[in-house]
Amino acid sequence: MKVHNFNAGPSVLPKEVIKKSAQSVINFNDSGLSLLEISHRSIDFLEIIEKTTFLVKRIMNLNDDYAILFLQGGATLQFSMVPYNLMNKKAAYLDTGFWAKNAINEAKKFGKVRVLFSGKNKNYTYISKNYHIPYDMDYFHCTSNNTIVGSQMKIFPVTYSIPLVCDMSSDIFSRKLDFCKFSLIYASAQKNVSSAGMTIVIVKKDILEKIRKNIPSYMDYKIHIHNNSILNTPNVFSIYTSMLTLEWIENQGGLSVLGEKNQYKAKLLYDEIDHNNLFENKIHKENRSDMNVSFFLKKKNLEKEFNKMWKKENIVGLDGHRYLGGYRASIYNALPLKSIQFLIEIMKEFEKKFSY
Ligand SMILES: *Cc1c(COP(=O)(O)O)cnc(C)c1O
Repeated sequence: MKVHNFNAGPSVLPKEVIKKSAQSVINFNDSGLSLLEISHRSIDFLEIIEKTTFLVKRIMNLNDDYAILFLQGGATLQFSMVPYNLMNKKAAYLDTGFWAKNAINEAKKFGKVRVLFSGKNKNYTYISKNYHIPYDMDYFHCTSNNTIVGSQMKIFPVTYSIPLVCDMSSDIFSRKLDFCKFSLIYASAQKNVSSAGMTIVIVKKDILEKIRKNIPSYMDYKIHIHNNSILNTPNVFSIYTSMLTLEWIENQGGLSVLGEKNQYKAKLLYDEIDHNNLFENKIHKENRSDMNVSFFLKKKNLEKEFNKMWKKENIVGLDGHRYLGGYRASIYNALPLKSIQFLIEIMKEFEKKFSY
């Protein structure tokens, strides 16, 4: 059965990745064992972790100044792990959405948080570029893509000697950026990469050198680096599946090709929303996300009719976040162009039927 999967996370993955990953659960590398049955310290798994690390660096064009970690606890753990490791006294944050706000709330437990911009009073529909980063901050934290409202940072500030830290959970590997400008990037895997239960952390090792804190082992980046991500038993399945997705990304032509495809996919959908009489998008045009496209019915009383229409066509995951209502089409790397074209057809048909 053909299903169009617009889920926000866990979400659509490339079909061939799912197939290979499922096969490995039954018989991993013709070993007669399941991937779920092998030791995380076996040569086979060490090769997987090495290859995955290598691919992350090659795809993002990062050198050996960076360490790549595959941790647990989701992006949510990173909300506290970042300040635990990096905050001496104060850090600067951008409040651009619900996840950013969560990151801020956690950071406040470790020191002073300066919120340089908050989009809250505009319902997070806009991300300012006009803020000043004070020189005495331990780091600057931002969220590249705001999954719930559907906004995205298109440019990042120059932070000079202040480490630039970014939650890229919902747009990692979706576009080409100058990743060397970032000192720490984290992303939970279940949006654009793999299954839930694993978080990729990319950290420039030199920012960890001045830390003189006594940090619980699992929370300490340096200890994870020293142990090559196997301080404890990692999520073997999710790491393996990430490796497959990264291979898929390279086969697609890498981040510049994927970035262009993603922009094209998003533009088609935004154009339809803008031209269709019955729908609207509320995000400032230059901040519209290429990964999560949110939209609302102008006449709320048509909700039942629209829901009936897309649900019977095997479209799933189109409901907006429970905080916001409306609709959200998450259109990650692996979502086929065809699914977007199909959704657009449904929206056009709906307009024809109900706009009068
Ligand atoms: C999904 C998401 C998170 C939370 O990830 P968990 O793995 O559930 O902790 C954090 N930040 C952003 C931007 C997200 O999209």
